[in-house]
Amino acid sequence: MTKRAVLVICDGLRADMVTPQWTPHLWRLKDRCRFYANHRGVYPSTTRTTAAAIATGCHPARNGLEGNCVALDLGRGLEVVSVGPVKFRDQLEQATGQTLKVPTLAERLKGVGGVVVYSNVSAGAALFHDPDGHGQIRHRTFGQGPARAPLDPLSIGHTAEGDTRMTDRFLADVLPTMAEDATGPAFAVLWQCEPDHTQHGAVLGSPDHLAALAAADANAGRVADRIEDMDPGGDNILLIIASDHGHETVTETVDLDALLIEVGLKEREGSHDVAVASQGLSATIYLSDEAADREGAIVEFLKTQPKLGGVVSGADRALIGMPVDGGPQICVMGATTEAANEFGVAGGSVALQGSLKISIEDGCGQHGGLGQYEQNPFLMARGAGFMPGTECADPTSAVDIAPTVLDHLGQPNQDMDGASLL
Ligand SMILES: [Zn+2]
Repeated sequence: MTKRAVLVICDGLRADMVTPQWTPHLWRLKDRCRFYANHRGVYPSTTRTTAAAIATGCHPARNGLEGNCVALDLGRGLEVVSVGPVKFRDQLEQATGQTLKVPTLAERLKGVGGVVVYSNVSAGAALFHDPDGHGQIRHRTFGQGPARAPLDPLSIGHTAEGDTRMTDRFLADVLPTMAEDATGPAFAVLWQCEPDHTQHGAVLGSPDHLAALAAADANAGRVADRIEDMDPGGDNILLIIASDHGHETVTETVDLDALLIEVGLKEREGSHDVAVASQGLSATIYLSDEAADREGAIVEFLKTQPKLGGVVSGADRALIGMPVDGGPQICVMGATTEAANEFGVAGGSVALQGSLKISIEDGCGQHGGLGQYEQNPFLMARGAGFMPGTECADPTSAVDIAPTVLDHLGQPNQDMDGASLL
């Protein structure tokens, strides 16, 4: 009996949006799955960091990918770079001498079936499942096989329609190779860009948002139905359906980089003394050696700002899974509100711009901080050991997915931050 595992991600789908009206397929699948009602993401609650956390079973402190944007010294002093483009992988290696600091599932499962990832999010988020080329990645703009050999891209749109085409390919090309007597991967991932992609430019709960949500829901349902056909008893194939983070409404956007310059805590725009990396609803602040003595003053200033929420620095960084021996010295959240938007969707936060500007739309969805809803993705699992139709109220985390997959596959999983759900 060949054990295998499949992970389907609906990017950015927060747990309280799994409802009979909005996600009828996920809702019906709850009867066949164990549902985790208190599931949490990692900090920052972004797709790229969560991809690395799911691939390694470790928080950014151990796996080394500490943001959607990070500051690196590429020879010109500290500068904020985006993890999104493929070239980030080489920039990280150039600056730090390595990519991820701990092995990925692709590395661990090399030689025992391997890993195949189909992803329609950013190229960087796809690549950080397997930055050193142990398995296979198919992204809409690139493909990578063992030893980082190029493969054909999926050539699909960065849209709900693209997710549907990707799911078609996954059903046609990947799942048949995971049948009982086939030689396909031990673990396969299908990571849809929706509803996250649409939520960034739509009001949460609006018709545009719900259309994208419906597409992601239907695709997850198609994969689950096929796996049930292949393995009716659920003994062989573990199916995990989840999201990486939720979303909250952007109440307003504060340019934190400009604010620090205005009060004299950063030299000027583009200076390398202080680098502010936007994570959306939070920011991570990196200090160069010359600015290290400003840490206390910056923390005190941030704490006085009404539009900012929590400020985390020093040893407390370990409490949110961030490194204390390198990485950003300060993590700061936008101020949050419980208030509902015009469609009755609760939860909002101030968004923070950094030294490198990212796309943020006031009134639309965003994530990246520690807010209640952005930190509440959903998780459900079908297979041996997961009692159908039951709910677990214990806290679980995105870092629990990798050890669960390894446990199901009969592989060692002890040296991770997360723990098996089995
Ligand atoms: Zn997003």
